[in-house]
Amino acid sequence: MHLSPLLMIWVPLETKHIVLIFALYFGRIFFITASYHRYFAHRSYKMGPRMELTMAILGMTSMQKGVLWWAANHRLHHKHSDFPDDVHSPKQHGFWWAHMGWILSKRHLDTEWDAIRDFARSPALRWLNVYHWVPGLALGTLCGVAFGAPGVVAMLMSTVLVFHGTFTINSLAHVIGRARYATADTSRNSLALALLTLGEGWHNNHHAYQSSCNQGFFWWEIDITYYLLRALEKLGLVRDLRMPPEHVLTRKLIGSGDLPSKPGISQRPNTG
Ligand SMILES: [Zn+2]
Ligand SMILES: [Zn+2]
Repeated sequence: MHLSPLLMIWVPLETKHIVLIFALYFGRIFFITASYHRYFAHRSYKMGPRMELTMAILGMTSMQKGVLWWAANHRLHHKHSDFPDDVHSPKQHGFWWAHMGWILSKRHLDTEWDAIRDFARSPALRWLNVYHWVPGLALGTLCGVAFGAPGVVAMLMSTVLVFHGTFTINSLAHVIGRARYATADTSRNSLALALLTLGEGWHNNHHAYQSSCNQGFFWWEIDITYYLLRALEKLGLVRDLRMPPEHVLTRKLIGSGDLPSKPGISQRPNTG
């Protein structure tokens, strides 16, 4: 799939296909983030069973294996952050292992069922976890039917971009940026990564309080996934978005915590 840009020699892309690549990238980054990460791994908001299944299927279009496999491994990342049992710690196992080595390794082929017992009770989710390639294949077919060969190339190229967009949070977000909170790991906050991943770049915030639906804790921390989840809430599709309690915002701050002034933060927290 990484060689798919070479296909442009035979299949030239027009502006509409470049737009399609962007749409497939940001659309699927939203679903992997809102669905796999903030819902299935962290239960940071609620929704009904039909919406839950829809979000699982849309998350799977990113082709990052099954929803239960992904969420279970991510829970283990938080449980053992940057300690030897962390599945993808750049500190323990090096940058490239954290970025993509672990996902290609035979060591992590199976779903860690003990870490995802709550959602594993659903037969539909267990089925999707096995046939995880179906939604991605369906989306690729749809792109081919709608746009012909350039649609398939756009699908392949955007899928690679979605891989690396997601993987940067496991690798770069533990290396570059600033830490606001004294967590037991190397997580960092980065505006650049937050823009690329629709809000996931506020990774130090997230490690400091992983149950929060918003990862940008303050109004200036752009978190598009959170804004879109608020919009879905207005439509009645999701509910009970969890926010960081006031004391979490100031707990374990490192120095000034890069906040402009401490008294101001209680007036402007992004707590909905
Ligand atoms: Zn992390
Ligand atoms: Zn997380």
